[in-house]
Amino acid sequence: MTFFIKTFGCQMNVNDSEKIRHLLESKGLELSGNEATADIIIINSCAVREKPQEKIFSYIGQFSTAKKIIVAGCVAQVEKGNIFRKKVKVDYVVGTHQFYRIGEIIDEIRRGATTGAATAFSRQWQELVPNPSARSSRVTGYISIMEGCNNFCSYCIVPFTRGREKYRPLAAILREAEILAKQNYQEIVLLGQNVNHWHEPSGSLTFADMLRSLARQIQIPWIRFITSYPGYHDRELLDVMAKNRNIARHIHFPAQSGSSRILKKMQRTYSRSHYVQIIEDFRRAIPEMKFSSDFIVGFPGESSHDFNLTMSLLERMQYESVFSFIYSPRPHTSAAAMAVTVPAAIAKERLLALQKLQADIQLQNNRQLIGQTIRVLIVGRHGKKPGDVIARSESYRVVNFSSQTPVGTFAMVKITAAGSHSLRGEQVDMVV
Ligand code: SF4
Repeated sequence: MTFFIKTFGCQMNVNDSEKIRHLLESKGLELSGNEATADIIIINSCAVREKPQEKIFSYIGQFSTAKKIIVAGCVAQVEKGNIFRKKVKVDYVVGTHQFYRIGEIIDEIRRGATTGAATAFSRQWQELVPNPSARSSRVTGYISIMEGCNNFCSYCIVPFTRGREKYRPLAAILREAEILAKQNYQEIVLLGQNVNHWHEPSGSLTFADMLRSLARQIQIPWIRFITSYPGYHDRELLDVMAKNRNIARHIHFPAQSGSSRILKKMQRTYSRSHYVQIIEDFRRAIPEMKFSSDFIVGFPGESSHDFNLTMSLLERMQYESVFSFIYSPRPHTSAAAMAVTVPAAIAKERLLALQKLQADIQLQNNRQLIGQTIRVLIVGRHGKKPGDVIARSESYRVVNFSSQTPVGTFAMVKITAAGSHSLRGEQVDMVV
């Protein structure tokens, strides 16, 4: 039997899909290169906004009813059995805590089961380290360290799709990192909805403690983590990062808005000035530190003054990159009951203005690198330009250059040209 996994959404969904592949390959099923030749299609779905949620149903609609369709991930967790009322044929719905049972579910489908659903939440951490063959990259290894969220930001569906926070023991995290180091991975990314809220399940170790142990015990050039919640910032983290050079000098720190009034309505537990203070503390302790962020525009009640505060925050923070979206009401969230006060056209205007400003900031900062030589990690060969490779800097800037150096190698590159979203360079050396 062959299967195909289509993954939508965040890195945690990518890591879950790696685990699903591992479980199915361990059961003797074969991954097919495309949907057409697969007997079973597993859609690991995303519910963070309405659009990605609706996307999966148009995706399913293209398949003949002969195929077995399994909807997994966040849409499965939110919609549960309602999915069977949709116009498309689905055979099984598997929630975010139940995909570990994918082997059993396949057996049920083989025995002729249709319209099955497994969507219970579990407080149990399911320990599973995917085989290298099941991972989406041979360069970057994803390691989930916690799952779920206790915050309930008023716009966010994650607490309803991923459940309450649960944490993976430090020993298991170290074991997986050790395995990846032995498999010559060059960077690891610690995953969680609120990684900086991780603590040892049955102890008092904090995220900073965990990161210190990892950085000292695991020989991997770049240790990264995503996503950090500003409200959980711990000064000890600064100290650990400053003292351990193998922790990448980049943090994704979603601000969401530059207006303290809107942050309050979003039920984010920090103000604009508190957020700015954290970033400035980081920059004082580690001057080369870089940041990226997320922003929502058009949140209920957002005035043009609030929006201008968001724009001025971008100018002040000089982010490496920003993910920005128009507010999308989500089921079960407290904001869904708020009146939508920002007309769609205004929200769109604000989104485009924000993205234009951020592109200008990136272009200006990228241009300052022309003539400089920076260290990058080669993550792939360029699909359209033979002989070219795609690399990333420590702060996730994309750098393209011609090279025969193997993927997964660090290189020193002299920057020769800059755009808003990428840099061009010439390789001057290989870093072993
Ligand atoms: S911290 Fe807020 S935005 Fe982040 S996952 Fe939790 S509820 Fe969602």
